Amino acid sequence: MFTAMHSQAVQELHFCHKEQLNAVIAIHNLRLGPALGGCRFLPYDSEQEAITDALRLAKGMSYKAALARVPQGGGKAVIMAPKGQFKRQKLFKQFGEFIHSLSGRYITAMDSGTQVGDMDDIRSQTPFVSSSSEIGDPSPSTAQGVALGIATAVQFKFSQDVASMRVAIQGLGHVGLALAEHLYLKGAELIVCDVDDKKSRLAHEKFNARVVAVEDIYKQECEVFSPCGLGAILNDKNIDELKCNVIAGCANNQLQTDDMGLKLHEKGILYAPDYVINSGGLIFASSRFRGLKPTEITHEINKLKNTLDKIFVLSNTKNKACHEIANEMAEHILFGNPPELQEAV
Ligand code: NAD
Repeated sequence: MFTAMHSQAVQELHFCHKEQLNAVIAIHNLRLGPALGGCRFLPYDSEQEAITDALRLAKGMSYKAALARVPQGGGKAVIMAPKGQFKRQKLFKQFGEFIHSLSGRYITAMDSGTQVGDMDDIRSQTPFVSSSSEIGDPSPSTAQGVALGIATAVQFKFSQDVASMRVAIQGLGHVGLALAEHLYLKGAELIVCDVDDKKSRLAHEKFNARVVAVEDIYKQECEVFSPCGLGAILNDKNIDELKCNVIAGCANNQLQTDDMGLKLHEKGILYAPDYVINSGGLIFASSRFRGLKPTEITHEINKLKNTLDKIFVLSNTKNKACHEIANEMAEHILFGNPPELQEAV
């Protein structure tokens, strides 16, 4: 176990087994503040798989928080969905007690398999939860950040704004559809796909988007490809099909492997690192938890522009892939000189 923690530089791993609750909380790094990260509730084949997920995802949250400049560390919780019948409300209340026992070192949020109602059940046991119905949905803030990130990347690549740019959006869920609206209002031409036809039709009706088949989205002639569906979608095969100049979307872990980031760099495609461009939701969750006002939250999200600009400039001058630059910047903040001695990113 310690070897696995060491490989992801995770500082703490907490376990809870109570009746049907089998949960693990991984805390990666507390240097910038209490760890904040979602809680997954999924059926896992093995305990090891659940622990590995928590370790890997907690590390990702630290990197995201560092570059989003929020005073949070990275953490993640995983609850192994019980096999057979179980009482959901009771399970999440017990999970709330578990979080409370950590005295604020970890703040939870929604993630795959959890809903606002679950967060409210956790909230009945502990204040350390950031996506209860009282706090609200982070997706609009994520979309706001991605729209700003696309504008920043387009400005860097073409010295133009997004009006008249063609943007291909893969996935029209909570973030993708809101992003489509932002881009439509700025005059962009939209190409969209979703496995759910109803969502694509809606984007066509509301935003005049051209709908294409799911398997054809990579081949579209466009300036920007925006992955907003699943993770790990950029692989050796479809990168060769791409006809875009910029990749900038909200999906987590877009690169199937780090080599894909190198391949994009070699092909001259500007890649906005996923955990930087999609950090609007984290900024929202952290800011709401800390009691910031809506205008202050927008101000925090707008800082994304400077961070992305810095990544793009350094990628150019150092001839290094954007995801490598982002990782180096995050590691400098997390493991370098104490924050008060560092230049702001
Ligand atoms: P969502 O589940 O609401 O939407 C995903 C959409 O993608 C759905 O409409 C789904 O039908 C579609 N989809 C799935 N597979 C597809 C495919 N192969 N081709 C085309 N469409 C496909 O999720 P969301 O909240 O909009 O988040 C989207 C992505 O962004 C996820 O990877 C999520 O982890 C990440 N993300 C979301 C937030 C947030 O605030 N919601 C924050 C950061 C990162």
